[in-house]
Amino acid sequence: MLGSMMQQPLLISSLLTHAERHHGEQEVVSRRVEGDLHRTTYKHLAARARRMANALERLGVRFGQRVGTLAWNGYRHMELYYAASGSGAVLHTLNPRLHPDQVVWIADHAEDEVLFFDLSFLPLVEAIAGRTKTIKAFIAMTDRSRMPASSAVPNLLCYEDLLEAESDRFEWPVFDENTASSLCYTSGTTGHPKGALYSHRSTLLHTFASALPDALNWSARDVILPVVPMFHVNAWGLPYAACMVGAKLVFPGPFLDGKSLHDLFEAEGVTVSAGVPTVWQGLLAHVEANNLRFRTMRRTIIGGSACPPAMVQAFQDRYDVQVLHAWGMTELSPLGTVCTLKAHQLGLPPGQRLAIQAKQGRAVFGIDMKIVDDEGRELPHDGKQSGELLVRGPWVIREYFRGEGGDPLVNGWFPTGDVATIDADGFMQITDRSKDVIKSGGEWIGSIDLENIAMAHPSVAMAACIAAHHPKWDERPLLVVVKKPGAELTRSDLIAFYEGKIARWWTPDDVVFVDAIPLGATGKMQKNKLREQFREHRLPSA
Ligand code: ADP
Repeated sequence: MLGSMMQQPLLISSLLTHAERHHGEQEVVSRRVEGDLHRTTYKHLAARARRMANALERLGVRFGQRVGTLAWNGYRHMELYYAASGSGAVLHTLNPRLHPDQVVWIADHAEDEVLFFDLSFLPLVEAIAGRTKTIKAFIAMTDRSRMPASSAVPNLLCYEDLLEAESDRFEWPVFDENTASSLCYTSGTTGHPKGALYSHRSTLLHTFASALPDALNWSARDVILPVVPMFHVNAWGLPYAACMVGAKLVFPGPFLDGKSLHDLFEAEGVTVSAGVPTVWQGLLAHVEANNLRFRTMRRTIIGGSACPPAMVQAFQDRYDVQVLHAWGMTELSPLGTVCTLKAHQLGLPPGQRLAIQAKQGRAVFGIDMKIVDDEGRELPHDGKQSGELLVRGPWVIREYFRGEGGDPLVNGWFPTGDVATIDADGFMQITDRSKDVIKSGGEWIGSIDLENIAMAHPSVAMAACIAAHHPKWDERPLLVVVKKPGAELTRSDLIAFYEGKIARWWTPDDVVFVDAIPLGATGKMQKNKLREQFREHRLPSA
């Protein structure tokens, strides 16, 4: 017997329709590439998204075809999110921080029909325009007065001109909720990038789950500033969640330095933000150096790479900003776990609470996870034994775009490539990525733990721990450190700092100081580059 409730496909367009109807006056504020601050509302944004849906049709974009973007976080990018997916096309967000050769490769692989870009990416567009095979039009996301005169870009169109020519009457089509909605390529630290192709259904379910109180806890009373870029896993789903709950949105555009962010937090009354640890480092440095506070910001979501406890402590103890540590992947749309405490943990002493917050957190409903040993046997949830983390759920990838790389699943589970423990309360902690793991005499050393300790040293700005070759132990930990400006710090100071904090044999064998650690296109430390750089490094113990 079937239930007798309405059959309504879960479609992305319904999020914007809801925001327009029930939160029409709620603001969307954007710092634009031009530097000025633009203000609009859900009502106006929805009307412009419908115009854009008409424009896409006029440009010849058909159901299922890909609409590429090279853009910062801003209202026009959000309009495209809804115009493309809502009309049944596939929004393909390209990462502008990638090398032009990679952008060409990805755009060709995705078979993008058109490419929308922010003016700051004109040089990149000029570099790729003659080389991509399928892009029929390049659209500058600006108005007529700022249109560049670029002869290097064929069929260069103006975003505002396109909109002006269209009506804002457009009926969002109704179709199968399993239809593809958006496409995002993983940064591809090894081999070619691979595409994760999300569906309307997976996106809506992810949005519901991410908004839950023990997940990211979005509400209509929030003012959300996503630092995490809209070109990386749909800004962790924020442009969807904000519409679902009717929150005010504040987009920072390309201005992601500590001062610009802090100014915007204060001016717009931002209550919650989200980004990778490297961004927050810049913010904290600015706030500390200028003796500033946060007037309204009370929460920040940190993920993408491990959030050092020293950062949690700085936000919470000094600035009264609660840190929510979260873990996810492009292949998971991206949310997998969030670290919110359970009731019985609230009364724990601060040190113990902080130790829990260093973990990546509990599975949000919809995500099932387990850890396995080398033979694929499931390991106990004792918080001690670590193994490869496997996940499954309705917003977890089943296969990569175009079946690239073959079947990624193992008996219906997606292997994450992360190495983790899970404790009795269900808190998962990443100890490493399988490719970053340090294997000393056959035993694993968790590089993240070692980095977290280094980050707690007051003179350390950034630290990466990598495996260096050792004749006896095969691999031993080498710590690569960027000092804070003007700080005095020696190798032996830092090695002594580990004493009593970790099993002695985990202590790094050596420390090297560098001016900078290479960061990838999504702001994560590129340990593969460091391993390459220090391949010949001779450890003193060797
Ligand atoms: P990639 O960096 O591989 O291109 P993603 O941006 O999807 O792709 O990153 C996913 C990976 O980032 C995870 O598999 C994990 O290794 C790492 N990661 C994400 N969040 C965290 C976190 N909170 N702590 C530690 N590692 C994290």
